[in-house]
Amino acid sequence: MAGDVHVIDHPLVQHKLSLLRRKETSTSEFRALVAEIGMLLAYEVTRDLPTQATVVQTPLARMNASVLDGKKIVLVAILRAGTGILDGMLRILPSARVGHIGIYRDHATLKAVEYYARVPKVMHDRDAIVMDPMVATGNSAVAAVNRLKETNPRSIKFVCLVSCPEGLRHFHAQHPDVPVYTAAVDSHLDDHGYIVPGLGDAGDRLFGTR
Ligand code: URA
Repeated sequence: MAGDVHVIDHPLVQHKLSLLRRKETSTSEFRALVAEIGMLLAYEVTRDLPTQATVVQTPLARMNASVLDGKKIVLVAILRAGTGILDGMLRILPSARVGHIGIYRDHATLKAVEYYARVPKVMHDRDAIVMDPMVATGNSAVAAVNRLKETNPRSIKFVCLVSCPEGLRHFHAQHPDVPVYTAAVDSHLDDHGYIVPGLGDAGDRLFGTR
C-alpha cells in the first residue's frame, strides 16, 4: 500500500465491531456502539500526541507528571455518518474543536458531492482527525481531505470503522501522507459501492432512515 494503514485489532474494538455488523443490531444499539468504538479509536489515534512535563501536588506529595502539550486538535466529521464517531471521540477529547464537511455520494456515479464545509478559521497550528465510518470507494475521504488541505492544518489523520483494499488504494494514491486508522479492512467492494461483508449503510443504520 502507498500509505500508512493502522488496523486497530484491540479486542474491545473487534468485539464491538462484530456487534455493529450484525443485521439484527437496533438503531439505538448501533449508535451506542459507534460512539464506543469512536472513543476507543480516539485513544489509538492520539497515541503519539506530544506531552510536556509538569509538577502536580497529590494529597501525599509533589511529583513530576505529564500533560498534553498544546491540545490543538480539530475533529472533522464527514456528514452525516461521521457524527456518530465524533460523539465518541468528543467524550475523550472534550475540548477539541470540531469541523464538518458535508459530502454525499451520488448513487448513480458513486462520485462524492460536497454540499457543506466549515472548520475553525485558523488551522495551520492544528492537528486534524477526519472521520467517516466507511472507506468504500474512497471518493468521500479523498474529497474531504482535499478540502481540508486547502485550510493547511499542521497534520491530518483519517479514522474509519471499516475499509476495503480498493478504497484504501484510491485514498492513498491521492493522499499518501495521511495515515488511516481503521478497525477492519474487509474483503472487497460490490458493484453498488458497498463494502462486503461490511455493515450495510452506516448512515441509515445510525439514524434509522431505512
Ligand atoms: N457507505 C456505507 O455506509 N456502507 C458501505 O458499505 C459503503 C459506503
